[in-house]
Amino acid sequence: MIGEVNIARPATRRTDRWVAVFGVLTLLCGGFFTLSLTYSRAAATRSQSAERTIRATLDRQGAALLRGDRTGWLSTVEESLSGDWARLYANLRGLQVSGWLPRTRGVAGGPVWDAEVQIRVCFAAPSCARTPETYVPLGDVISARTKWTVRGDRAVLTGFEQSATDGPVPWKSETLTFATGRRVVVAAPEHLPGATPAQWLPAAERAAQVADRYALTEPKPGRYLVFLAGRPEWDTAVGTDREAAAFVDRTSESTAFAVVDATGLGADFADEILLRHELGHIATLLGTLDNGDEWAVEGMAEYIAYAGRPVSSYELILDARWHVEHTGWRGRLDLEWSTDPSERFGLYAMGFLAMRCIAQEYGEPRLLNFFTEVVRRGESPDEASRSALGAPWVAVERTCRPIIAGWVKR
Ligand SMILES: [Zn+2]
Repeated sequence: MIGEVNIARPATRRTDRWVAVFGVLTLLCGGFFTLSLTYSRAAATRSQSAERTIRATLDRQGAALLRGDRTGWLSTVEESLSGDWARLYANLRGLQVSGWLPRTRGVAGGPVWDAEVQIRVCFAAPSCARTPETYVPLGDVISARTKWTVRGDRAVLTGFEQSATDGPVPWKSETLTFATGRRVVVAAPEHLPGATPAQWLPAAERAAQVADRYALTEPKPGRYLVFLAGRPEWDTAVGTDREAAAFVDRTSESTAFAVVDATGLGADFADEILLRHELGHIATLLGTLDNGDEWAVEGMAEYIAYAGRPVSSYELILDARWHVEHTGWRGRLDLEWSTDPSERFGLYAMGFLAMRCIAQEYGEPRLLNFFTEVVRRGESPDEASRSALGAPWVAVERTCRPIIAGWVKR
């Protein structure tokens, strides 16, 4: 320590010089730093204000959309975008839009502002609440990189580039046509060959009356949405599988589309059985996503499709017989599912017969409780059968085995 004192003075003198130089630099830099802080604080304030204006504009557009005010909807959109926005308006109104929940991110730039925009929409849903899951998954979300000019409290949309527009129902990007009934909306691409949405509507309405009886959500689905896929839409959604005739695309817990292969061989606008099956899925699955238990899911849709008709009229009864014979079936009802096309119809048929037997032996209300527990709550068939049917699963299987064997015998 003493030694250091000895050499302290000259060093201090040098240090003083450095401090002096450093001090000047610090003053300069500090000034610059303060300036740049002030500058970026001003920039942040400007971008916050721009973001608020953009958000308020999106809210106003949503209000115009929900009240059916096309002029209001287009009033904050630049002329070059009005075609795209008019189409989006028509599609959203056609699909009974009932909610519009925008959010913005990454607002930057000025005087032309960039913003990432996401808008969750709801279709025919009685409520459309903002929750942590509102923007997940993306099926009901319009996602776009946008550009805006902002003057005062007025923002005008000048750029709109959507992403995530894929999905079997191209409502975000293509012109659709609609036929609207009391319980169903039938939508189709603009130039769909063959039957029109209006021609499909009557059978869809009758199917919806039946599906409504099995709705497991309260309130019931607002309106059932049916999309008539043409060849390109079907190929995009399903690939080359022309054996399937329709499927249900659940884009969120609150939205499901029955997508029909409307130009495939055998497509028939009077096919109430097919429509009952698909709307039956919607009635029993809405509010959930990603269920397993295909035997119960498909069996229930078939059950709804054939409600009120004798088992002997069941179209796939020969497939059930084939399944029983070639697998040496011993009474299992919750059969392992297979995507093998040669097994498919037999499994649909066995699922149907399982549901039909449970309804016959235990009653339809108990069948629906059983379905709710297995499919919607993920319980095992045994847990569900004990609480919903009042019997262990082995007993249910023992009861149904001879009944089903009797239905399928030659
Ligand atoms: Zn199905």
